[in-house]
Amino acid sequence: MYNIFDFNMEDLRSWMKNNGESQFRANQVMNWLYKKNQWDFDCMTNIPKSLIEKLKENFYIEIPELIKSYRSKLKDTVKFLYKYRDGNVIETVVMKYKHGNSICVSTQIGCRMGCKFCASTVDGMVRNLSSGEILAQVLKSQSEIGERISNVVLMGSGEPLDNYDNVLKFLNMLNCDYSLNIGQRHITLSTCGIVPRIRQLADENLQITLAISLHSTDDVTRRKIMPIANRYSIGEIMDSCRYYIDKTGRRISFEYALVSGVNDSLQCAENLIGLLKGLLCHVNLIPVNEVRENDFRKSSLNNIKDFYDKLVDNRVEVTIRREMGSDINAACGQLRRSYIESKRYRKGVENGGDLIRCRQSKEAK
Ligand code: SAH
Repeated sequence: MYNIFDFNMEDLRSWMKNNGESQFRANQVMNWLYKKNQWDFDCMTNIPKSLIEKLKENFYIEIPELIKSYRSKLKDTVKFLYKYRDGNVIETVVMKYKHGNSICVSTQIGCRMGCKFCASTVDGMVRNLSSGEILAQVLKSQSEIGERISNVVLMGSGEPLDNYDNVLKFLNMLNCDYSLNIGQRHITLSTCGIVPRIRQLADENLQITLAISLHSTDDVTRRKIMPIANRYSIGEIMDSCRYYIDKTGRRISFEYALVSGVNDSLQCAENLIGLLKGLLCHVNLIPVNEVRENDFRKSSLNNIKDFYDKLVDNRVEVTIRREMGSDINAACGQLRRSYIESKRYRKGVENGGDLIRCRQSKEAK
């Protein structure tokens, strides 16, 4: 059995052909799945009964089950906890901006990159998500909010470049007019810096935005907070970024989570300015989201402002990421963690208390 969302048009057309069916049936099925949001073969009224039976024997349509949704008080962010048919749960966040709805998808169940400040990585990686499983996060979330999603960021749980083939197939599917028709310039892929994969991605000649989770400008500090820094140096990352810019003409976005006493001094800001000099880029400062699995603390407002001003004064393009959804544990992997823990400790009883519990125990520490 295949998940039908793992098939692109080419795949489905050749499946039809190999099964003695007209290839245009693939277009009809795709139309039901992506344009009419009809996720039940029996309801595809223009498909002959015999083919419906054949489809049901060979495919399932996997839309993850919504377990819970959390809406932030400001109503600008909603977080969904979804369960796949194998019982694994992941989280997806939808953010409402003036310019449209943006979704943050997970690309793996868990993550094996081990960044010290990140909740996604605490239990390691369970498995990769297939292209169709990632795509279904967008489909399901769109139908939950009842509005079109126009921007996609690959910044949920998982390292997208550690699941390269599935992620690439997902990116191509997003972009197809028979599918969701989301322009590549409305897609951002974030990576902790797997250098050979950045180069490989550059060679795909896509127009997506590449975001690099930099978080530090010196290798010693970076190694302390991001194990991947033991494999690839900042110098190698910057070389691969220049290659990406040369190949695609796209501006790179650097993410920099400000952690009190770790990477938020004015000296760090100066180092960042030096590192990015002359590069086509943008910096996204993120006041670190405090998660209960570690002791990293957010920089003070003054430090954040001074850091920001220093970059602006030196003509670095910079924004401070709006802290959307921090009241609903919207940082990477936090919701899944609290769900898993609540399951572990309360033997599968699901109620609304896990987030409150999570915050209380943090305060109690
Ligand atoms: N693995 C990819 C994408 C997922 S994480 C990557 O590393 O880029 C998306 C972004 O959120 C990354 O920049 C990551 O470093 C950051 N992040 C993770 N946990 C965070 C936290 N607690 N506070 C702030 N940013 C966090």
